[in-house]
Amino acid sequence: MPEGDAVHRAASSLQVLAGQRVEVETPHPRAATKGLVDRLDGRRLESVEAVGKNLLLRFEGGLVLRSHLRMSGRWRVEQRGARRSGRPWLVLRGDEHEAVLWNGPVLELARDGGRLAHLGPDILARPPDFDAMLARLRAERQQRAVGDALLDQRLVAGIGNMWKAEALWQSRLSPWRVLADVPDDKLRETLDVAHRLMQGRLDGVRPLHHVYRRVGRACRRCGGVIRSYPQGEHARMAYWCPGCQKGGRQPGS
Ligand SMILES: [Zn+2]
Repeated sequence: MPEGDAVHRAASSLQVLAGQRVEVETPHPRAATKGLVDRLDGRRLESVEAVGKNLLLRFEGGLVLRSHLRMSGRWRVEQRGARRSGRPWLVLRGDEHEAVLWNGPVLELARDGGRLAHLGPDILARPPDFDAMLARLRAERQQRAVGDALLDQRLVAGIGNMWKAEALWQSRLSPWRVLADVPDDKLRETLDVAHRLMQGRLDGVRPLHHVYRRVGRACRRCGGVIRSYPQGEHARMAYWCPGCQKGGRQPGS
């Protein structure tokens, strides 16, 4: 699954088109129904920005195109007129380059300040706004488990399931503890760890997993046996070490 860092890489490669008027095509039939060519063709692409796992393309006239890659979406930047087979969702053609979106399951056009305002602060901002994240986490229902809350894009944008699991392990915080039971400095530490792990990945550091997909194996810190269990309304898989991430209502105990 493309995590926040893949979206940030796409945003930086699309910068070659920023400031240019673009020709817009939607070769894929599912994208063609969205009316994007009518509304975007010939407009100037003002900026491209990653916010959490969303790529936001701002066009002149206050139009914002949101692309979320889900499991399979990919952006590619190629030389203008490059040959390709297949039908991409979207082609944005500038003077010398074109950006091509393959399998773009989420593609929606909004007015600036629309739905996107609901996204929380970006974990990969430089620097991230930890105060604002903390404020949103504290405004949330405090009986919600921290492992679930960290994946809520309205509270903090961009933390994927893998990074959530690894950041909680690093800061010795059980995903099952409820927000009310986690002090501010511990939340801040976990957010900071998530930011540094994800930024490291962007900078080319190969991630070493301590709990993610290590179920049944020994914790490298305490020797405990790593567990997993679905968590939250979307049943995302939580991974944790019961030995050094104690507390909360842990399933099966
Ligand atoms: Zn452990």
